[in-house]
Amino acid sequence: MSNFSEQVLGWFDLHGRHDLPWQQTITPYRVWVSEIMLQQTQVKTVIPYYERFMIAFPDIASLAAASQEEVLAHWSGLGYYARGRNLHKSAHYIMAHFEGVFPSTFEDIVALPGIGRSTAGAILAIALQQRYAILDGNVKRVLSRYLALQGWPGHKKNEAFLWQKAEAYTPKQRFGDYTQAIMDLGATVCTRSKPRCSACPVAKGCLAKQTNRVEQFPFSKPKKIKPVKQTFFLMLENTQGQIFLQKRPQKGIWGGLWSFPQFDSRQACLEQMKAYETQTECVQSLVEWNSFRHTFSHYHLEIIPMVAKGVKHQKMQCEGEWFCRQSLCVERATLGLPAPITKLVRLMEREHV
Ligand code: SF4
Repeated sequence: MSNFSEQVLGWFDLHGRHDLPWQQTITPYRVWVSEIMLQQTQVKTVIPYYERFMIAFPDIASLAAASQEEVLAHWSGLGYYARGRNLHKSAHYIMAHFEGVFPSTFEDIVALPGIGRSTAGAILAIALQQRYAILDGNVKRVLSRYLALQGWPGHKKNEAFLWQKAEAYTPKQRFGDYTQAIMDLGATVCTRSKPRCSACPVAKGCLAKQTNRVEQFPFSKPKKIKPVKQTFFLMLENTQGQIFLQKRPQKGIWGGLWSFPQFDSRQACLEQMKAYETQTECVQSLVEWNSFRHTFSHYHLEIIPMVAKGVKHQKMQCEGEWFCRQSLCVERATLGLPAPITKLVRLMEREHV
């Protein structure tokens, strides 16, 4: 065992987290779901989602048998919805090709939608007792500091170097514990800001710490300014207090979730409203609310809500459905809604209280 892994494991035995829900009754399915939820999301946010998900879909068969709608409803608010859709797709694939048993080779696991090399490594090490390395965001940060890596860790050449080190540090025994331990170390000690070097088991060998340059590592990604895109939501409410939503196509942002009709320009939004007025023979007043921003990984979306109330919907010809506003506002509503839509529905509800 290398010094590094020995120190990390020694620390884990004393200070690591041993009571996370996915550490109890370890199965490939449970570890897989946790690893997918933990991509881009912190442990404390994931825990309640994970617990609800496990109650609703306790195994691969129940996940495959559920509708995408049900799966996304359980993902509502967690963000990065492609993760939920990919889990669901993978469950179908496992039922069809592996008789419902989670695959056990690296090649088969990494071929599942939404699973990359690091996630496959984590599942293999933690749930299937096979020696594979991981290199998620936490581990990248720890190793970049420990090795004082010059350059952005996401750069191809640097990433290859980190993988090589991650593999070398993975011990020949206890690799499941080590995987959990190194992730924990990054999440609780070698944190993004204010790392707790005084509590770190590898501080003595850490080049960043020893040369007093912890703040310099990891190097940041070369900056690109995120563009701002504008979008207009047409928020229709009928005389019975129902609101009109459309199911989004599978591809693109918020795929498979429900949202207000969306337009690239104010003009397009007004024209659609005019068409509805002609169909319903009723003139509606359209009120523009203050805009707000929702940020994606590659751009900011500036959302401009356009609200029309008291719509006589019976004669409206359009694709979509009317939903009771109040029932969408309850905690854990059963419809998959992106966060900005939930926010707008709640604002509409508040106006009525
Ligand atoms: S000594 Fe500090 S910077 Fe180095 S690995 Fe430990 S916590 Fe991270």
